[in-house]
Amino acid sequence: MQCTIIKPGIECLFMKAAGCSFHDGACKTVVESCDGCARIIEFDKKKYCAISPDPSSKWKRGNCNFATHLKKTQKESKQKINPLKASKRASGK
Ligand code: SF4
Repeated sequence: MQCTIIKPGIECLFMKAAGCSFHDGACKTVVESCDGCARIIEFDKKKYCAISPDPSSKWKRGNCNFATHLKKTQKESKQKINPLKASKRASGK
């Protein structure tokens, strides 16, 4: 059902005929860690997440798994370095 409270026109699973069924009855604004994410949408000069009604909960156990501004650093950290090959490379052999 489409939201009629904070994000008018946006499809939302929490929106029911009786109103918003999310625990506070409305979405929460984004947190500081969300800055730069492409999923931020603005309504009434306030910033919300297009995916999560409570952005702070997405950061409780580390990085948000839907964040678009963290992709580069995640890929870099996934790259495994073989210490043996790295030492050979460093010595020029
Ligand atoms: S997807 Fe994650 S990082 Fe992006 S706005 Fe939503 S909660 Fe914040």
